[in-house]
Amino acid sequence: MIMTYEIEDNLYVNLTNRCPNACRFCIRNKPEAFAHDLWLDQEPSAGEVIREILARELSQYRQLVFCGFGEPLERLEEVLEIVRRVKEKNKIYVRINTNGLAGKIHRRDVTPQFETLIDGLSISLNAGNAEEYDAVCHSVFGLEAFPAILDFAAKSKAYVQDVQFSVVDCLPPDRLAACRKIAAELDIPLKVRREVKA
Ligand code: SF4
Repeated sequence: MIMTYEIEDNLYVNLTNRCPNACRFCIRNKPEAFAHDLWLDQEPSAGEVIREILARELSQYRQLVFCGFGEPLERLEEVLEIVRRVKEKNKIYVRINTNGLAGKIHRRDVTPQFETLIDGLSISLNAGNAEEYDAVCHSVFGLEAFPAILDFAAKSKAYVQDVQFSVVDCLPPDRLAACRKIAAELDIPLKVRREVKA
């Protein structure tokens, strides 16, 4: 079971396969494109992950990143517990790569819980409106997903120092332009990331 792994100078944490979306471009559909076998037959406990992280020399990493095959904030409480323990004795930047649907998953505004713990959020945007998002990401939340993501992003800014949107570079130009417009309106930077090719 791979709970943590390194990419360049960051340490990544793999907590869950679960996700309320089924995005067309999801790496879970392209396991051959990824060097590690990140599929978890069983989710690790917070304690197991904490032990593994603390066994490493954390000063060698630039960031601790919650990412993995699924949506890390499906396990919000475990993420926060891990970060709390790691930050007790270590100064490390913590980022979460998220689909921005934690508010829908947990049916409340979870963003205040990020305060003093989470330094960066990278939120997948991937569409310029609710219909496009639904067509690309096939969320269980349907058309409610997209406005929930914008709400999550806007609220997170009060508690997280670096909030950014990300989109994959395979988006058509008009959709990319719509994403840029939304990001500008919310005053949140937009990062265009490379799609993982199979
Ligand atoms: S939100 Fe992320 S983990 Fe979930 S299906 Fe989409 S790409 Fe995959």
